[in-house]
Amino acid sequence: MSIEKFGGFYTPTCDICGEELDAEFDFCDAVAAKKDAGWKSRKTAGEWEDVCCDCQALENDVSTEAEGL
Ligand SMILES: [Zn+2]
Repeated sequence: MSIEKFGGFYTPTCDICGEELDAEFDFCDAVAAKKDAGWKSRKTAGEWEDVCCDCQALENDVSTEAEGL
C-alpha cells in the first residue's frame, strides 16, 4: 500500500521515512521505478511496506558505512 495515488498519478513512498519517488502515470511504472531506485518491498504484519535505500542501509546496521554506502 505504499504506492500512493494522487489524481491519476502513482507515487512510490517509503513507509519508514516518507521519502517519495517521482510520480508515474501507471502503477506498473511506479513499481518499476521502485526497483530501479533499489527500493525493497516486503510484507510486514500482512501489509506491504516499501523501504528506500537509506532506510535499508540504516536497518542493515552501521557496518555498511565502512563500505562507503
Ligand atoms: Zn526511507
